[in-house]
Amino acid sequence: MRQTEPFVLVLGTGNKKKRGELEFLLSPYQQIQLRTLDDFPDSIEVAETGATFGENAALKACEQAVVLSQYVLGEDSGISVQALDGRPGIYSARYSGDGATDESNRVKMIEEMKGVPADKRTAWYTCHMTLSDPEGNVCIDCEGRCYGRIIDHGRGDAGFGYDPLFEIPEYSMTFAELGDEVKAVLSHRGRANRIFLPKLLSLIAKLQQES
Ligand code: IMP
Repeated sequence: MRQTEPFVLVLGTGNKKKRGELEFLLSPYQQIQLRTLDDFPDSIEVAETGATFGENAALKACEQAVVLSQYVLGEDSGISVQALDGRPGIYSARYSGDGATDESNRVKMIEEMKGVPADKRTAWYTCHMTLSDPEGNVCIDCEGRCYGRIIDHGRGDAGFGYDPLFEIPEYSMTFAELGDEVKAVLSHRGRANRIFLPKLLSLIAKLQQES
């Protein structure tokens, strides 16, 4: 890879929110060209058959990377609730069953958390990021977490998924109330992105030296 050549990073999802957060973080680095699966008609649907966030992120990265012959960043995230023994965890997107939506997942969460006392409502978001090289080898692996608590009814309009129910105790506000800019700093994805970025920059520097 020559100094002037851009590094193409394919985000292994079509999720616009995830792309937006990463785009913001990578914006000062002109040599990195961010793409999503929407830019690749040959991309495949990777089955999330792993038992952990890390296993699913690796599947999304490595399988897609081999098909596209590109560097692919696999990302798997979700919410774990202490009173639910860590559920829904890796099943967060499908928590309320087939055809689950953000809304139906929140309704189920409110239902399951009915009667749970205030001191037992701790929850945490996890975001695992794995970068695969075009041959399917893992070259970066990192994870970010963010702790909060589940409230008993939704508040706020920003964000997505469980954000209206996820309160940051220090602010007494949910992610959906705090908005995207604060969320980008505090969130599991923001934290994982910030661990990922320096590793990515060193990888790019190494590839440039080798060429
Ligand atoms: P994934 O796309 O397989 O990583 O599934 C992520 C699921 O976890 C989403 O569908 C949401 O239900 C939940 N989730 C992950 N990150 C967030 C977040 O930042 N806010 C709200 N919900 C999230």
